[in-house]
Amino acid sequence: MVYVTYFRCFRCGEKYKPREIENLPIPRCRCGSALDAEYDYNSIKEIILRDDFMRDKPSHWKYWAFMPVKDLSKIITMGEGGTPLLENKRLGSSNSGSSGSGGRLLIKYEAANPTGSFKDRGSSLEVTKAKEFGKQNVALASTGNMGASVAAYSAFAGLECKVFVPDIAGKEKIKQIKAYGAKTIAVDGDYSVAIRQAEEYVVSNSDSFLTGDYPWRSEGTKTVGFEIADQLYWHVPDYVVVPIGNGTLIWSIYEAFRELTLVGITETIPKIVGVQVEKCAPVVDAWENELKEIIPVRNPDTIATAIACGDPIDGLAALKAVRDSGGEALRVSDREALDARDKLARNGIFVEPSGAVAYAGAVKKGLGGTVVVLATGHGLKDMYGIG
Ligand SMILES: [Zn+2]
Repeated sequence: MVYVTYFRCFRCGEKYKPREIENLPIPRCRCGSALDAEYDYNSIKEIILRDDFMRDKPSHWKYWAFMPVKDLSKIITMGEGGTPLLENKRLGSSNSGSSGSGGRLLIKYEAANPTGSFKDRGSSLEVTKAKEFGKQNVALASTGNMGASVAAYSAFAGLECKVFVPDIAGKEKIKQIKAYGAKTIAVDGDYSVAIRQAEEYVVSNSDSFLTGDYPWRSEGTKTVGFEIADQLYWHVPDYVVVPIGNGTLIWSIYEAFRELTLVGITETIPKIVGVQVEKCAPVVDAWENELKEIIPVRNPDTIATAIACGDPIDGLAALKAVRDSGGEALRVSDREALDARDKLARNGIFVEPSGAVAYAGAVKKGLGGTVVVLATGHGLKDMYGIG
């Protein structure tokens, strides 16, 4: 049932067996960098051919063979995924600039997940793993969306949840976390400080499971990429435009498209375009300056709080996704993000400011061809500047 062959480090290339990773309180390479799972793609191919894979409706667990799960009867699911891929000609009008007419702009509306953000995909797998490992509670650092998501899935699974919240987190999101019955711990510092505290907590509490942007989450988040290809009848778009916070989402989408080529469903990978806000753009800086490391931004000050990750855990992975796909990284201002939020909302698609950053980037760049833009979190989560 599990087709993971090994986990490999992004920075130093060291390989780990799945069992070695499962025993680590903080699932990360000895060198401190993030890990990526490699699978037995021949076994996955057989599953896809044997089942009604190509005919089944897109949904998160349709792609279970690409996730490290041991027992499908024990998964924790709240119906995540299967989110709409929306097309509205008015939203695409300003983006046909570079390629003339014939371009398509589609919005992958991740706000339609159970807690209102794409985070539910990763949470579903993480909480499944927490149960599999027999843990009593889960802990994480979050600026809000991941905290609300993990809180919901933990509550659904009957696990306790502790969320370390940095000072930048929005009040409404903290309320959402509390509504699910999770405990919030206010951290005096930014998101990086909150991560350190959550990790320290799990290291000293062996019945606790660390959730966050570690391998389980990125493996679960891949399903957004599978769904995009599936919803386009397995045609690969020219561009996928993704906001970068910790970098996990953009990496997972790249990885999904790469794995589809490895099992022979598709032949190419879309150009992956990463977008950050000007006041917190460490990955864009690294891309522009051709750096090998990410230089952290301390105490980022932006209205796009959900992606204000100054020291992104998966920053190197994000950079690799952009570079290896032939894409690019670009920045937008807070103002451009808010204008994009308003334009989407006035066409019926309500997202929070961070959730509009990718659309802002696509408009700014005037990308042509088939462009898929990630809209990551619901507008009700952060109504900055409305009313
Ligand atoms: Zn390493």
